[in-house]
Amino acid sequence: MTAIPFNKPYLTGQELGYIKQADSNGHLSGNGPFSQKCQQWLENNIGAPKALLTQSGTSALEMAALLLDIQPGDEIIMPSYTFVSTANAFALRGAVPVFVDIRKDTLNLDETLIEAAITSKTKAIVPVHYAGVGCEMEPIMKIAEKHRLWVLEDAAHGIMASYKDKPLGKWGHLSAFSFHETKNIISGEGGALIVNDPQFIDRAEILWEKGTNRKKFLNGLVDKYSWVDIGSSFLPSDLIAAFLWAQMEKAQEITQYRLNIWNTYHQAFENLEKEGRVRRPIVPSNCEHNAHMYYLLMENHEKRNQFLENLKQKHNIQAVFHYIPLHNSPAGLKYGRSPGSLNNTVELSNRLVRLPLWVGLEKNQSSVIKKILLEVRRT
Ligand SMILES: *Cc1c(COP(=O)(O)O)cnc(C)c1O
Repeated sequence: MTAIPFNKPYLTGQELGYIKQADSNGHLSGNGPFSQKCQQWLENNIGAPKALLTQSGTSALEMAALLLDIQPGDEIIMPSYTFVSTANAFALRGAVPVFVDIRKDTLNLDETLIEAAITSKTKAIVPVHYAGVGCEMEPIMKIAEKHRLWVLEDAAHGIMASYKDKPLGKWGHLSAFSFHETKNIISGEGGALIVNDPQFIDRAEILWEKGTNRKKFLNGLVDKYSWVDIGSSFLPSDLIAAFLWAQMEKAQEITQYRLNIWNTYHQAFENLEKEGRVRRPIVPSNCEHNAHMYYLLMENHEKRNQFLENLKQKHNIQAVFHYIPLHNSPAGLKYGRSPGSLNNTVELSNRLVRLPLWVGLEKNQSSVIKKILLEVRRT
């Protein structure tokens, strides 16, 4: 059987044409016509007052940490079950990631454990919308308001998904998206910072443009532009934005396509769940997800590893595990703090398998499913 990769980047067909167009525009650096189209799309799609493209989801998180004025010793509440960048963005500022356990159903930050982790040093909460399924943002925002904390959504998985009819990325004061090639909407590397709280807009544009007031200069508000704050070069080239624009134009179709594949898996594995062999993903009724990921929870760690190995060796199907918890990693132990139990994090990460999910998989999906059924029942 032909090899089935875990991920395969999908191109809509317009990407290279738009890159050519960017070239003819003669604006290759950042914040050009395609960047503005993409930012406008994000602002409309999320309903946010400001979106800024960044070079990655990581750099959007780093920008957010600067904007929130995070200082050494500040504490940031986040799941341990996440990508390293969620924690790194704050560790880079000398802050302490405070790891809180996840819910068993969605594998998202357990909102009922947040308050116990708050101290006088806590500055922000960073919920991660795992697999494009929204965190319980309503209670999280209430806790943040009560304790005067900032909320930064790590919405790297969250494009085109919503919680309580409001898009992911629209709930927090700030949020970060990723357009890495493994995400739903891609530009190779890429990301965006969403600013929902208008008080951050002006400074976000300054940090983004190397700490200068270039925006005001371009708008004719000042007669020369100068260094006014810290900052860096967070903006991507307009060539990257051109590629991304081709994806955004087809975001609806791409999402629907992925949902079809997700639903096919979900139906196919219903009996495995009834037999008690796996647990399928749980999407709460107040969440509309985007099929970023399809995963199964196996009975235990050994069976998970054996299953992955069998799929690879016998069937040439690449399924993969996911995040290695941060709290007991070398850097997590050095920079972070874990005030409570992280039992769900450890257990669920040990049991989780992500299945191939990409546009184009449908041609082989029934044979992939057959082999998965076979191997789960045999392992
Ligand atoms: C992908 C990802 C990031 C980082 O995005 P990059 O664009 O790869 O820098 C951050 N957080 C989570 C949860 C992610 O999955």
